[in-house]
This record gives sequence, structure tokens and C-alpha cells, in this order.
Amino acid sequence: MKHNFGAGPCILPKEVFQEAAQAVLDFNNSGLSILEISHRSKDFEEVIAETESLVRELLHVPADYSILFLQGGASQQFAMVPMNLLPEGAKAAYLDTGVWASKAAKEAKKVGQVEIVASSSDKNYNYIPKVYNVPADAAYFHYTSNNTIYGTEIFETPKVNVPLVADMSSDILSREINVADFDLIYAGAQKNMGPAGLTLVIVKNSLFGKSGRTLPTIFDYKAHADAGSMYNTPPVYSIYVSMLNLRWLKNKGGVSVIEQENIIKARTLYDEIDRNPFFKGTTVEEDRSRMNITFVMDTPEQEAAFLALAKERNLIGIKGHRSVGGFRASVYNALTLSSVNALVDAMKEFEEKNK
Ligand SMILES: *Cc1c(COP(=O)(O)O)cnc(C)c1O
Repeated sequence: MKHNFGAGPCILPKEVFQEAAQAVLDFNNSGLSILEISHRSKDFEEVIAETESLVRELLHVPADYSILFLQGGASQQFAMVPMNLLPEGAKAAYLDTGVWASKAAKEAKKVGQVEIVASSSDKNYNYIPKVYNVPADAAYFHYTSNNTIYGTEIFETPKVNVPLVADMSSDILSREINVADFDLIYAGAQKNMGPAGLTLVIVKNSLFGKSGRTLPTIFDYKAHADAGSMYNTPPVYSIYVSMLNLRWLKNKGGVSVIEQENIIKARTLYDEIDRNPFFKGTTVEEDRSRMNITFVMDTPEQEAAFLALAKERNLIGIKGHRSVGGFRASVYNALTLSSVNALVDAMKEFEEKNK
């Protein structure tokens, strides 16, 4: 059995893969594949309606928010957010906590003015800036709740007096949030919710048309909301597999239950990183991510040897991102505690062999 610690696209529960595979061959005993049915068919209308209601239920999304199923990834949202929320001549505020956060700000700069309220680039993004001032006249404040590459996470929702926008690509559905604290949340599905090709947007309806800009229809949130995410062909299969994954999460007991499991998984791995003299974490302790756990070796020359041992032990996808080096173990919802234990065992084995 392989233990997949890949950062994204990532592991999904085995039973989701099995059901998804079956639907490719024969969807709902219809004699048709999920890949060939019309997105306007009654069968698919039920799928998208159930997916939406599962998102609404699992995240307690209030009634005055729309749930959109889009394409283009989180990266397309870097552009759509300012196009829809930033009026001509106005400015937006961004917190710079990593590559994704700075890419989001860079795209917004093409649309209007951007103020970076704080940045942790001085220490290769190994911490979260805590003190900053969001200008009262900003059209919105944007931050990245989990920094997938660097392994930091913002658990406390920033309190600001302007509309709050969050990129939750890598921690959505991993812990409880209060959606009403936000005006817009977006997430590429492939980190915790489902397969690549789907982007989730949760947007407060009062934000529609906020920028006053004339937008191409495909980039206009309101057009997608009005059409029930069927302005054009939605990513049918990615929505279907996400629905299966959301059902799995609901059957487990929902977000509060998975959050407790995620806390235990993260603690198990961080405890070993802190105990084992061969390894050390890369981020400040109070900002450690529960989803992406980054660590290096005390002696960097040994990293290739540990990677080789990891491979022998079927531990996949733990090589760190090139901008941090070392290792990154992504412990998303579907990754089990027994997979975390397999990694911890390999770290102990390495210690025994090399001490
Ligand atoms: C992966 C990731 C992105 C990019 O997502 P795409 O869907 O590939 O565009 C953006 N933000 C965060 C936090 C990510 O983890």
C-alpha cells in the first residue's frame, strides 16, 4: 500500500475512488458513463444540487451566500476577485505569506491598485505576520489561510472592517470556519475537496457587481450564480467525485470530526520532527500548518538517503517544494493516521540506522 503525501492533486478516500471508477463504466445503473451524460440531464442536476447542499451543510454556509462551481483553478480566482470586487481607482489590501499570496496580489495589480499590508518574505515565509493595518478605504482584504508550500496556516480569522476574501485552497473542509466572517472564499478542489478541474467559490450575494466594471460574462460571479454554475458546461466529473468525497466527509461526522483527526495527525508528525535529532521543522511553531508539514534534516547531505528509505517504505510525495527544500508531508483529510505513523516509523528507522 502506498502512502500518498502529495501536495495536490492529492489523496482521496479509497471508497471514493471505487465509486468514481464505477460511475465511469455505468452511472446510477443508467447504462451510460458519467463522462457521457448531459450536464443538463436530470441525473446531473441532482448531482450538482447535492454537491451544493453538502457544501452548504458541512460548512454551514448562510443563505445569502452563493456556492459556485467554476473552472480555471484558484489561479483564475486571483484575477476574478479583483475584476469583480475592485472598482476603478480603488485599492485592495493583501497579506503576503507566500508564493500563492503574492501571485494573487500580482494579478490584482493588473486590475487596480494593491497595498501589501505585511509580508513574511524576509524569512522565506516561515511565519505569519501578526501586526498590520488594513486601510479603511480598501475595497477588500485578501489573505491565504494555508500556505501550502511553506507549511504555515492562519487559524484565527483576521478581523478587518472591509470585505474579507480568503484563498482556502489547501485547508478548506479541514477545520471549522465561520463563513459569515468572510465575504468571499475560494479554493481549488484538488487539495482537500476532490479532483483537479473544479474551483469552489463561496460568495456573499451583496458583492455582485461591486466593482462596477463591465466584465466578460465568463469572469462575472453573478452570471455564474444566476445560471446555477451552468452558464457553460461545468466540470461534470470533478463535481461528481467531489460530491462522493463530501458524502464521505458527512458520513464521518463532518468537519468538526475530521478537524480532531487532523489535529492528531499533525501533532503526531510534529512531535517526531521535534524529538528526532535528525530532523527539524522549517516554520515557527505557533504558525505550523496542519495540512502541509515542512521539515528538513539537520545534515542536508542525508536528505537523499532519507528520501530513498521513504521510497522503500512506500511513502510517496514527501520531497519538499524547491523554494523550501527538505520534505513536505501533506496530511489532507483523506490521509490516515496509519499513513502518518508509517512516515514516523521511517524517521525512527533512519535514526536507528544512522546514530
Ligand atoms: C495549489 C494552490 C493554488 C493554485 O491552485 P490552482 O488550482 O492550481 O490554480 C492557489 N492557492 C493555494 C493556497 C494553493 O495551495
